[in-house]
Amino acid sequence: MKVHIIDVNDINDKPQYGDCFLIEVEGKFILIDGGVHQAGQKVRDYLDKIGVNTLELVVVTHVHSDHIDGIISSILREGDEDNRININQVWAPDPKYLAPIMPSREALLALTVDYEDPNYACFDSPGFSLRSIVSYNSFEGMLSQRGIPISYQMADIAHKPQTLGIPNFSVEVLGPSKETLNTVLRRLKQIGGEKMKLITNSERARLAGHSLKKMDLELRGLYDNENDAINNTSLILKITYKQTSFLFTGDAEIASLVTKKGGKLPYKMKKALQKKMLNVSVFKAPHHGSVNGIDLNGKIITELVKPKNVVITAKAKDTDHPYFELLEKLRERHIPYYLTTRNRDGIVITTDGLTELEFGEAKEGGDNPST
Ligand SMILES: [Zn+2]
Repeated sequence: MKVHIIDVNDINDKPQYGDCFLIEVEGKFILIDGGVHQAGQKVRDYLDKIGVNTLELVVVTHVHSDHIDGIISSILREGDEDNRININQVWAPDPKYLAPIMPSREALLALTVDYEDPNYACFDSPGFSLRSIVSYNSFEGMLSQRGIPISYQMADIAHKPQTLGIPNFSVEVLGPSKETLNTVLRRLKQIGGEKMKLITNSERARLAGHSLKKMDLELRGLYDNENDAINNTSLILKITYKQTSFLFTGDAEIASLVTKKGGKLPYKMKKALQKKMLNVSVFKAPHHGSVNGIDLNGKIITELVKPKNVVITAKAKDTDHPYFELLEKLRERHIPYYLTTRNRDGIVITTDGLTELEFGEAKEGGDNPST
């Protein structure tokens, strides 16, 4: 088994947010996320070099551009008919929990947005979440055009590990829980109401011939308040191969992983969930190692989950992603961690599922498929 952590955090010498994992197991392939739009070509080149013809499963952990756009621009792009990568199925969080902020025609009219502007997909630019939702709509359209089935996953309905027909292998959805998704929905309903007021005002201003610039900025700002809620829709997946396990967490924030407790360890996790997350071989630090994906002192990782290794998909030289104290805590606890920005192509984890994992640099995009 190989887990390729494709580096989508350094695109054409520009730092970017994003996740992209290719799992190669028993000759089959699974893709989790695809980085930003501009990462698409790098991801596609990587898949082509390895010789990926079919993806058993494509997972979109959540709708944010730095996870979904690269999938669109690498494997769902137009004009690719002769050189298509087949996709057997797609998993995503249920978009019905984003319903209050799904843009209506009026919402789009009220905005002057250049969707083709490559900078617009970046996390740092205003309107990031709005851009992401627009991406998601076109993503679903492309899937239905190609007849690719999508299933919406959450912890409660997919509690049994699935094998996808791959020997010695299983994938289990550990999050988000229905509870988390309902919290997201409540939060978005609040914001959705405010947004509709602004849209109505925008329309009035437009009819009165006023400039919409200020209104646009306000509206985009409002959408950016939705980043946290959308992060918490992230699918949390545990992948097991023989005795080796990987925990993929998307951009899930603290609230979707644990609840507050107080006392020495201020967080708690449901026992059954903790048992499943405890001692995994590799833990993907949530949300690019951001402090809102862990906690101020890194205890969620170092005391609740206690992984054997940690992987962080983050721009280098950015003290918030990864949060510097997380790295400090991992060093203190002697938990090895690996950053995608260590080299240009990424990291390849190789394992026979029984012995130690090997962490190597991705160079030529991999060699022959292996077990
Ligand atoms: Zn992200």
